Amino acid sequence: MFKKVLIANRGEIALRVLRACKELGIGTVAVHSTADAHAMHVRLADESVCIGPPDASESYLNIPQILAACEITGADAVHPGYGFLSENAKFSEILAAHNVTFIGPKAEHIEVMGDKIAAKTTVKRLGIPVVPGSEGELRSVEEARQVADGMGYPVIVKASAGGGGRGMKVANNAEELADAVNTARAEARAAFGDDALYMEKYLQNPRHIEVQVFGDGMGKAIHLGERDCSLQRRHQKVWEEALSPVITPEQREEIGAVSAKAIADLGYSGAGTIEFLYEDGEFYFIEMNTRLQVEHPVTEAITGLDLVAEQLRVAAGQGLSVTQDDISFKGHAIEVRINAEHPETFRPSPGMIEAFHPSGGLGVRVDSAVYQGYQIPPYYDSLIGKLIVHADTREMCINRMARALDEFVISGVDSTLPLFRRLVNEPDVRSGNYSIHWLERWLADQG
Ligand code: ADP
Repeated sequence: MFKKVLIANRGEIALRVLRACKELGIGTVAVHSTADAHAMHVRLADESVCIGPPDASESYLNIPQILAACEITGADAVHPGYGFLSENAKFSEILAAHNVTFIGPKAEHIEVMGDKIAAKTTVKRLGIPVVPGSEGELRSVEEARQVADGMGYPVIVKASAGGGGRGMKVANNAEELADAVNTARAEARAAFGDDALYMEKYLQNPRHIEVQVFGDGMGKAIHLGERDCSLQRRHQKVWEEALSPVITPEQREEIGAVSAKAIADLGYSGAGTIEFLYEDGEFYFIEMNTRLQVEHPVTEAITGLDLVAEQLRVAAGQGLSVTQDDISFKGHAIEVRINAEHPETFRPSPGMIEAFHPSGGLGVRVDSAVYQGYQIPPYYDSLIGKLIVHADTREMCINRMARALDEFVISGVDSTLPLFRRLVNEPDVRSGNYSIHWLERWLADQG
């Protein structure tokens, strides 16, 4: 096992990784920007190194500084968390060239899945069903028109380098197409420095269902069931569940087996998530994420596994601690993302946390790196923390979520807690009857 892991991230995920390392007796190094000198992960790590000014491009994305921090501290591995450098193939190669292990998949797999056009071609070849769409890149509006005419409207134009819900535009008809292509291209160029586009059939009322997979790096792989992340705002997840209330055990076994086999055939190493849209009983691949996801705790709750510990084991060459036969699913889990945002306008609300009282009790987990008196910096994402609850049934889980939300106190900054307190009582949420558009429509109806 590693002796010392450097955590190249901040916030709740840095703390999550730190906790796993501590429990395994692994030394920890925190890196931080000048804005994060008082962050919880910095306080709790064995050692810490300041790697630059607040701007992430000069700190959390600064590869030479992170490499220097590894050398100064003697860290033998780096955990990238999610976001920042977690899906940067070059970063993993540079670390390898300096004899530091990147805790994540092989560079070639990060690279292929980071390019959504290549990812689709690859998984299709491995037997995974994909959303119908263009064969590869769209070079012109004219070509887009031909593909759309062939498949029928509505269509969605997407950036091959896309992420975070950016660079995606829907066209409902031929008149809207040129605009969709041009806007998506401009957005992709600005956000990712890469304006390659592709097109998919725009599914009308799908759910977002994703399968957690794990490769042992030695040709074997398992799946840990699915998460349902259909409650979204601006293509971003807000509330996540495991398992999905609409997937049958037979469907789970089938899509799980197809996913795990593809990952095994790929020779994939470590944690990954295969994302699908699900409509009328069919799964359609949209993308694969080659890292730990924000919503991984719901999978931990129903499987009893520590996903970060598994990542560490696999990266250290020890393989997985379990086989597919050891995996069973117990109860239901839900996670909500509590952001420092106004609960109606979603305007970011950085500032000082005056009071912070996380919920507790049976079946409740709070992953957060804030504390009373902590100043949320304006430079990074607005996640205050994640509230995760687990119970025997979905209904009991929602009741538990409702009472946990009642207990939670955050003052000094706006938070999305009031939004969730309303959502848990919505009949459609309670019955599990929602598609990826439900939340946007509900928010619009609230005026
Ligand atoms: P990103 O990497 O930016 O998150 P994804 O490809 O994962 O982009 O898509 C994010 C979300 O956008 C999906 O969860 C879904 O809500 C919506 N979406 C993407 N592709 C389609 C599609 N073909 N039809 C309908 N909605 C889609």
